[in-house]
Amino acid sequence: TTTFPRPDRTHIFTIANQKGGVGKTTTTVNIAAALAKQGLEVLVIDIDPQGNASTALGIDHSTEVASVYDVIIEDAAMADTVAPCPDLDHLLCVPATIDLAGAEIELVSLVAREQRLARALEEYLALRESEGSRVDYVLIDCPPSLGLLTVNAFVAANEVLIPIQCEYYALEGLSQLLKNIQLIQKHLNPDLSISTILLTMYDGRTNLSAEVANDVRAHFPEQVLRVAIPRSVRISEAPSYRQTVITYEPSSSGALSYREAAEEIAARGVADNG
Ligand code: ADP
Ligand code: MG
Repeated sequence: TTTFPRPDRTHIFTIANQKGGVGKTTTTVNIAAALAKQGLEVLVIDIDPQGNASTALGIDHSTEVASVYDVIIEDAAMADTVAPCPDLDHLLCVPATIDLAGAEIELVSLVAREQRLARALEEYLALRESEGSRVDYVLIDCPPSLGLLTVNAFVAANEVLIPIQCEYYALEGLSQLLKNIQLIQKHLNPDLSISTILLTMYDGRTNLSAEVANDVRAHFPEQVLRVAIPRSVRISEAPSYRQTVITYEPSSSGALSYREAAEEIAARGVADNG
């Protein structure tokens, strides 16, 4: 088993697409698990009020636990909210509770409303660095909207990872996302780049999947990862066991393809130190 190379700085990814059901959460937790399994230090931040990423990682996200809501709205220290994933070392998660559903509205009247996650994360990463346990990869799982929570994720990140479902309407709605990211780059985070696109739910038996994949690769030749994630029952059933497919069924095609995607990301992470 190869060990993925460790980057010389923390890479912060926001996993975004305002469409629901395209594989944001699945991609977040499985890439995170694959990186952590190779010994890299990984932090997942769940900012979807549904808390699906927290569930898949086996993290308690009932309303009593300290969560990303406390960080964003109540100025809690992120260090007081991180929880370890029970199945994997090196993987921590800031859970999302249903309280977060009100945060979009509560944020509107707060100072520095777009920067709240970024500031808390910066402080946490500095703390980890000072303890000699630098975080290698941060993955932020977004809700299916372009509201203030997603804006907070864009401001906190250096890179955007867009999962694209291989279906007919895949490219529709993408221009809205790209426009929003351009606005963020112009006004709030000039360093943000759309570095990575992952094709998900690929069905090799249909021409449609292949056509969509070709289209997306033609539009974004640099960004699209070589591996496409196949449609796989194992991937979709893992969350009901509060697991990622990486731990639930490590030899399945779904696990192997997410591992490959993670390996590509890790290779890019050391190639580009900009
Ligand atoms: P999002 O976070 O973008 O809303 P999810 O990651 O929750 O999307 O995925 C939507 C649904 O599709 C979930 O039920 C998930 O288990 C399922 N799913 C995601 N990726 C795959 C895949 N490669 N094969 C089969 N089912 C998948
Ligand atoms: Mg989701």
